[in-house]
Amino acid sequence: MTNTHRSGPDRRTVLRATATASGALILGGALSTLGPTGALAQAAEPKLYTRADWRARPPANRIQVLSSAPRHIVVHHTATANSTDYSLSHALSLSRGIQNYHMDHNGWSDTGQQLTISRGGHIMEGRDRSLAAIRAGQHVLGAHVANNNSTCIGIENEGLYTSERPPKALVDSLVATLAWLCQAYGLNPDTAIKGHRDFNATACPGETLYKMLPDLRAAVAEVMLAQRVALADEPVPDEFAPTYPPVPEDEKEEEFYHGPARGPDDVTR
Ligand SMILES: [Zn+2]
Repeated sequence: MTNTHRSGPDRRTVLRATATASGALILGGALSTLGPTGALAQAAEPKLYTRADWRARPPANRIQVLSSAPRHIVVHHTATANSTDYSLSHALSLSRGIQNYHMDHNGWSDTGQQLTISRGGHIMEGRDRSLAAIRAGQHVLGAHVANNNSTCIGIENEGLYTSERPPKALVDSLVATLAWLCQAYGLNPDTAIKGHRDFNATACPGETLYKMLPDLRAAVAEVMLAQRVALADEPVPDEFAPTYPPVPEDEKEEEFYHGPARGPDDVTR
């Protein structure tokens, strides 16, 4: 309930600890991009596999793009098996499986989320037009967080993280993706990065991954600072009276189901 990660000395401690524990490679890489002159740089767009790469089907309807940037980046887990196949071919197959399920079972226009990351750390475009929209500072209207889809961009992370930690390759790619999105949209990682359960009654993104969010926010800020990307100067919202929805003991066991993805306030599917 407190926001200790925001206070001065504690926050620096967290940043350093995170950089050592999980972000050393990323931090090293980020620092090296500065070069000897320390020239200003943008948070790098990570290597990303497009819909053409995973041979996506065309969407059932033209996907809507909002001109306004999203306010939050929502971290999900797919609630599927913790596969040990870290290959690119597995990642591309995962994207096809999610799209087929969302279109054929859920009856949605397309993949619900904008981005997907496999356990091997492969990053993939999800819903149609997502990559172009992010590059333009715009927001593709998705289906991943009920009643908040017009203000939230979603990242689906392959696996089930109720008790197990995600693999390092996934965490590294997630941090790189979050830093890129914060820069692209002018968002502050401290206030922008959320878990699905912050909005809906769901265990998603799993207890373990959810508890990693403060460290992830700190790691993202560290990457952005190392790349000389200014953190957005957002007013800190009142977080002393959060109204988080309940976390259910059990969720229905259905492929790719991880809590409410659409609600009455959402205008598309
Ligand atoms: Zn979710």
